[in-house]
Amino acid sequence: MTCQRCAILEAVRGVSSHPTADEVYEMVRENLPNVSLGTVYRNLEILSANGIIRKLGPEECKMRFDGNTKKHYHVRCRVCGRVDDVDVPSFLPPKARVRGNGEYKITGYSMEFTGVCPRCAKQKQA
Ligand SMILES: [Zn+2]
Ligand SMILES: [Zn+2]
Repeated sequence: MTCQRCAILEAVRGVSSHPTADEVYEMVRENLPNVSLGTVYRNLEILSANGIIRKLGPEECKMRFDGNTKKHYHVRCRVCGRVDDVDVPSFLPPKARVRGNGEYKITGYSMEFTGVCPRCAKQKQA
């Protein structure tokens, strides 16, 4: 793994905010001032293609990346687009129950909750 890719991976793993490529770029640039946005994009694609990080989206907002590849669910703020992890204690994986369209080989699923984050809720009240 190249040094740049390590730095990008560390940046994604180091936060729980599910950063966009732009945000990863800002973080990585602090240590690697010469890195380009294109390099960050390319490496994020490679890392997620290899299952080292998780790619979220591209529903409605920008693509976001997650350093946590364990199975977990997300909630996305409808107002600011922020993404957080949510705890879903006993969720049956839909994959186990999907039937119907037999022409599809089901290889995975994604599910995302939508809501309003505490910060946006507060702003609305004020
Ligand atoms: Zn919000
Ligand atoms: Zn997550």
